[in-house]
Amino acid sequence: MTHPQQPADEPSPRIPDYPFMVPEPAPGSALIRMVQHPDQLNPLGITITCASCRAERDWLLLETRRRVFVRCRCGHEWEEADLDAEFFDENFAYADRAWDNAGQALKDLGFNGEFAGIYFN
Ligand SMILES: [Zn+2]
Repeated sequence: MTHPQQPADEPSPRIPDYPFMVPEPAPGSALIRMVQHPDQLNPLGITITCASCRAERDWLLLETRRRVFVRCRCGHEWEEADLDAEFFDENFAYADRAWDNAGQALKDLGFNGEFAGIYFN
């Protein structure tokens, strides 16, 4: 499918029109779902801030075993008790990519610390 304003010679964005099949995690490891969250997070009316670099938005949300973690561009990551798995589910539409290695996923998404101090969105 081509966007109406997209030149015909550009490749179409890779948006699957069917659910992406997520491979089973290796025995002994858990599936980690990740979704980017460019906006601020205010779960209890207080803006979540990175304790390491003081960033206030442009997060990566991670969910594993129904626990939610927030990761900053600076690489700081923490379990956020004020965000539950239901909140994650509301922000996660569908899987469109999969990685065998969480470290590679963080690098590819720009959350391995390489972009500390930069807001992408
Ligand atoms: Zn940070």
